[in-house]
Amino acid sequence: MTEASGNHVEQRPYKRVLLKLSGEVLMGDTAFGVDVETINRLARELIDVQNSGIELALVIGGGNIFRGMSGTASGMDRASADYMGMLATVMNAIALQDAIERHGATVRVISALAIKEVAEPYIRRRAVRHLEKGRILIFAAGTGNPYFTTDTAASLRAMEIQAEAVLKGTKVDGVYTSDPAKNPDAKKYDTLTFTEALTNRLGVMDSTAMSLCRDNHMPIVVFDVTKPGQMLRAVSGESVGTLVQEG
Ligand code: UDP
Repeated sequence: MTEASGNHVEQRPYKRVLLKLSGEVLMGDTAFGVDVETINRLARELIDVQNSGIELALVIGGGNIFRGMSGTASGMDRASADYMGMLATVMNAIALQDAIERHGATVRVISALAIKEVAEPYIRRRAVRHLEKGRILIFAAGTGNPYFTTDTAASLRAMEIQAEAVLKGTKVDGVYTSDPAKNPDAKKYDTLTFTEALTNRLGVMDSTAMSLCRDNHMPIVVFDVTKPGQMLRAVSGESVGTLVQEG
């Protein structure tokens, strides 16, 4: 492994990033749905990033409302359950758009599923134009396909909009050798290669998302987005969380 505690490879400040936020991040300390205080804080932090001049696109998850796998566990057809999951991400996207707008910034929701009354359709060149104009972009409905995750959508969209990195904002401050909640000896990686992450099943993202990033030379930064200020630090290239990149 290439971890080097206290010896983190310095990242450069990014010009354009893709930030993946899991649905769980919107819950705050609640058990389901969207916590108003949390989404307001996130909106303020996203605007801080926008004001720093970094072009910011988001992919939002839906796990705080519905996950396809939980639907199949209770006997649903997988594709139907996944469509419900994708619609959950649209709800989160609208909530986040609302919070960002209430705080005075410009933002657009773009959906991979046609739902034109509430979100723009995904047209790559148009999405890039929004970024160039300094608008925050929220990609909703994942890839638009069942059997995928929003982590894979994040990797895919990052490539399409030519982002310099995928930043994965989670509730943990990086990738560990094992689950730090269960193992007090678990150690955090500062840096990691894609191959190490995949071989050791380190749970950075699912393997489809990871392979896509590896094959297309897209670095991933996993960081704790629940920590105030950490988002701006991550996009500014400070040493936060775990950097996953080619060896
Ligand atoms: N989903 C899907 N295709 C996609 C993205 C998401 O079918 O391209 C569905 C899938 O059921 C997933 C749910 O949407 O469980 C919510 O997304 P995810 O679990 O990635 O959300 P997160 O864990 O990031 O909150």
